[in-house]
Amino acid sequence: MYDHILIRYGELSLKGKNQKSFVRQLVRNIQDKIKNYNGEKVFLDIEKGRIYLKLNGQAPEKFYEPLSKVFGIFSFSPARKVQLKIEAIQKVALEELNSLQVQPRTFRSTVRRPNKRFPVTSPEAQKLIGSYILKNTENLQVDLHHPDVEIFVEIRDDAAYIYTNKIQGLGGLPLGTGGKAVLLLSGGIDSPVAGWLTMKRGIIVEALHFYSYPYTSERAKEKVLDLARILTQYTDQINVHIVPFTKIQEAISANCYESLWITIMRRFMFRIAEKIAEKRKALALVTGESLGQVASQTVESMYAINHVIHTPVIRPLVTMDKEEIMDLARRIQTYDISIRPYEDCCTVFLPKEPKTKPKIEVCEKEEAKLDIDNLVDDAVKNTEIIKIKAKEKDAFGYF
Ligand code: ATP
Ligand code: MG
Repeated sequence: MYDHILIRYGELSLKGKNQKSFVRQLVRNIQDKIKNYNGEKVFLDIEKGRIYLKLNGQAPEKFYEPLSKVFGIFSFSPARKVQLKIEAIQKVALEELNSLQVQPRTFRSTVRRPNKRFPVTSPEAQKLIGSYILKNTENLQVDLHHPDVEIFVEIRDDAAYIYTNKIQGLGGLPLGTGGKAVLLLSGGIDSPVAGWLTMKRGIIVEALHFYSYPYTSERAKEKVLDLARILTQYTDQINVHIVPFTKIQEAISANCYESLWITIMRRFMFRIAEKIAEKRKALALVTGESLGQVASQTVESMYAINHVIHTPVIRPLVTMDKEEIMDLARRIQTYDISIRPYEDCCTVFLPKEPKTKPKIEVCEKEEAKLDIDNLVDDAVKNTEIIKIKAKEKDAFGYF
């Protein structure tokens, strides 16, 4: 019977001095996620380069879904813990093989021995395990290169662990190890993916949505909240800041050159997002911009838009093709929500011919017709915060 899940955290082993706090954060995140899904606390043991989850008689499958939603986990395996004796290891390796649902025709054993005090070397142990299995089974052969099943044995300080199944995790870095950023979340396909990729690098995000009621409907807002809800599967809570944007859009369209509406509107978005980031102690903004996708996503536009703030802007999708972005959106299950046909605030005030190479001086001249500070402060002041909590089992199959 499996008594542990062995959890690998790959990339973290490279992080030198920070490693301790990274692992501690990862352990906390695993515990929180499992508590959220299964309503219980689990015991986790940390040993050089590995985390062990004690099953205490529970089925390992129960933990696959939550573990596959935690950033920083590279892969995991349901495993059997054995005492450090070659005879015991042989016996349990055979048990592991016999317990498989589909009986293999070929196998190999692969031994790793970080514990150099164990008297049998890895190649010797592989042979001893292999020959023991051959002796105690029928119709089974060794195939070192393309085995149906690979029996892994890890010889650690206090015990050995045996497993055959490696389930892939999300990779990345534990959430909470990279500070905080504000995600500009529209109802489109791109920004939720950008948010997910940023979270994958350990950064906590708060979402911010510009809302132009009554030009955009209540259902457009619902859509954004649903997208945030999907993202909470990878964390425990996401705050969504709903910024009233109607007055600003009306002021822009009534006073500024039509071809600059989008650029000026985005400059306002950035100013407001920066203010809210400051308030929330976030050090970066995140957008779903991708070069060349639309008029406002040329380098010239980015330059003109970026000019109004000093906060760094993370653009995880900047060089990606739409196809790649859509694939990711499907994998993280935001795609079906994103394609719901509700309007976004940008589509309502769409100029016939938006400028692809806006000039900063012209933008400034046009904006001078507006009371920028007041409009920005007003929007920030009237922002509503909605807290979206990760719901128990609010998931649709694991990644
Ligand atoms: P998306 O699919 O994310 O909507 P897009 O390809 O439609 O992106 P744009 O509409 O030009 O591109 O928006 C670029 C980025 O600006 C978005 O990815 C998002 O980060 C931000 N953004 C656009 N509209 C809004 C909004 N109403 N609220 C918050 N952020 C927005
Ligand atoms: Mg959009």
